[in-house]
Amino acid sequence: MTTTTTQSVDVRIRNLHKAFGGREVLSGIDLDIPAGSVTAIIGPSGSGKSTLLRCINHLERPDAGYVQVGGEIIGYRPEGGKLRERSSRDVARQRASIGMVFQQFNLFGHRTAAQNIAEGQLAAGVGSAAARRRSAELLARVGLAGREGAYPSELSGGQQQRVAIARALARDPRLILFDEPTSALDPELVGEVLAVVKQLATTGITMAIVTHEIGFAREVADQLVFLDGGQIVAQGPPTEVLDHTDNERARAFLAAVL
Ligand code: ADP
Ligand code: MG
Repeated sequence: MTTTTTQSVDVRIRNLHKAFGGREVLSGIDLDIPAGSVTAIIGPSGSGKSTLLRCINHLERPDAGYVQVGGEIIGYRPEGGKLRERSSRDVARQRASIGMVFQQFNLFGHRTAAQNIAEGQLAAGVGSAAARRRSAELLARVGLAGREGAYPSELSGGQQQRVAIARALARDPRLILFDEPTSALDPELVGEVLAVVKQLATTGITMAIVTHEIGFAREVADQLVFLDGGQIVAQGPPTEVLDHTDNERARAFLAAVL
């Protein structure tokens, strides 16, 4: 079990607020994710799970509060007691250290697996030979050795998602965010993707994963967070939250999905 007292905190979220069109979607989130640990985020549809992940890599700008990763505030820097917006170049640098995997894979259909993986590296100025080697290495790591030349349409959903995971790892992120990585997959393909995520969890990278796979969360997560109406209403070791939460909403949700 990881605790903030024995391990350094990698992600620190404080008083995070985000509204869309006057409706608050995140209402004061406080959360620590220790370095090298896995946090699973569960909760009903519309509770703010994706928005929370998107705030962590600045795909959404918080209205108040902040997200700190590796000691740096994402998207802003302190200046004269205030937070100033960072330059887009600086935000790009911060984002490069945070991998993200989406429900819908988001691979480029007209590019091969290797090209999809290499894209971010090439944009960052890595040479094409080095990027090619790295793509091959990452494909092997997600169980797709030799599939460099495959186009997304030639791959199953589970294989495409594993390519997306390889792409998220290409620039050696310290942190990886998964937003329902198996929700778009046929049931028989879920296991191969979860196996890759589980293996990744043993490598010391920090992970946050939004998932409805409760059994997986129980097995792999160090910390489980239940989000409801833009607030964390239950939080702790998975067994504690899953088996013993006294939060009414969390119990009702778990009774429905388990
Ligand atoms: P979850 O991932 O838990 O299903 P989301 O974070 O996607 O929840 O969304 C939370 C709420 O915020 C939803 O009501 C959703 O419609 C709304 N929302 C999310 N993104 C936007 C946006 N870009 N513009 C307007 N409303 C949004
Ligand atoms: Mg979502």
